[in-house]
Amino acid sequence: MSFVAEFNSLPLASLVKQSSNAGASAVREALAKERFSLSDVAHLISPAAGEFLETIGRRSQALTQQRFGKVIRLFAPLYLSNECINNCKYCGFSRDNAILRVTLSVEEVKREASALAAQGFRNLLLVAGEHPKFVSNSYLRDCVAALHAEIPSVSLEVGPMETDEYGPLVAAGADGLVVYQETYDPAVYDDMHTAGPKRNFGWRMETPERAYAAGFRRIGIGALYGLADWRYEAICVAAHADYLLRNCWKAYLTISLPRLRPCAGEFQPLTHMTDREMVQLVCAFRLMFPDVGLVLSTREPARLRDGLIPLGITLMSAGSHTEPGGYTGAGKEKLHHTERGRIVELGASETAVETRATEQFNIADERSAGEVADHIRRLGYEPVWKDWDAALTA
Ligand code: SF4
Repeated sequence: MSFVAEFNSLPLASLVKQSSNAGASAVREALAKERFSLSDVAHLISPAAGEFLETIGRRSQALTQQRFGKVIRLFAPLYLSNECINNCKYCGFSRDNAILRVTLSVEEVKREASALAAQGFRNLLLVAGEHPKFVSNSYLRDCVAALHAEIPSVSLEVGPMETDEYGPLVAAGADGLVVYQETYDPAVYDDMHTAGPKRNFGWRMETPERAYAAGFRRIGIGALYGLADWRYEAICVAAHADYLLRNCWKAYLTISLPRLRPCAGEFQPLTHMTDREMVQLVCAFRLMFPDVGLVLSTREPARLRDGLIPLGITLMSAGSHTEPGGYTGAGKEKLHHTERGRIVELGASETAVETRATEQFNIADERSAGEVADHIRRLGYEPVWKDWDAALTA
């Protein structure tokens, strides 16, 4: 049974209600357990559990140190292209946004990767919008293959594919695949995704399973907080993670917790999750999933990121740019608009002003990777730049 079938049979409305109505005794009862069900997680993320945050946080901290040591793994996103055929209301790269677009050549991608390697990174996430004309499967394979020698750990966050299309990417050296469901609320999903193949809710939800079947060693999932009720999303993410741990158990699973950030198109979040609720969710996920990697990006401000380091986060991006060419200026002479899949040259006034492609969203933690690493050390943790070496599997 795929996760879609399991998802359709989940008592989600009842779990959300349990969360809203939970009292202190239900939270205490959940906290007394060693292993947690979805119902327990609903209680741990309840408004009532906010009063127990110190207890939940201490337990999450102890569990994280026991399973991971005092280590934070660092990675950087490397944007290959901001072309996209989808319209997602919350994303700056949406096809109907008149933004400055570019797709880096393989050589330019290598330059970006070398600049990140010079900062210390050995773990990169290649990100691209979904556009088969500009971001073909063979282009992605060539990018992965070109980086393999210098970067031991390369993951992808690109348009979902069929299992047999993923095979060549795994063979070229990609070891991780990240795919966020964005929202697990089908009605909100339908409203947010107004055009393009991403409109298919179920097909996207089965992507981690196809990636696993293709041989990816690491799989990342998550919801984008700010579209639907965060407790509903969190319960669905927990159910999805639980399914993947049971059915795709050879892969290493990570959960990301992105909150919506300002972007081109000026979409405003539909729902709000406070910083305190974010802390509560990180700790609840840690309690339910002791061995799952929890990922925090530069979408979050420095103070919150620093505060979450001892509480359960294990993987962080740092010094990030969310536009292609962001680390070296690569591709700036090729900037253009794209209309109905056709490249439209910039007008003279635009070329005089603009020097870089449009970013996907604004980042909140603007510290350099070195500054983030220094701060991790000051907190008594070790920053680790290299996530994996293929030689370890030999
Ligand atoms: S979220 Fe992804 S699919 Fe949607 S517009 Fe942005 S890049 Fe394209």
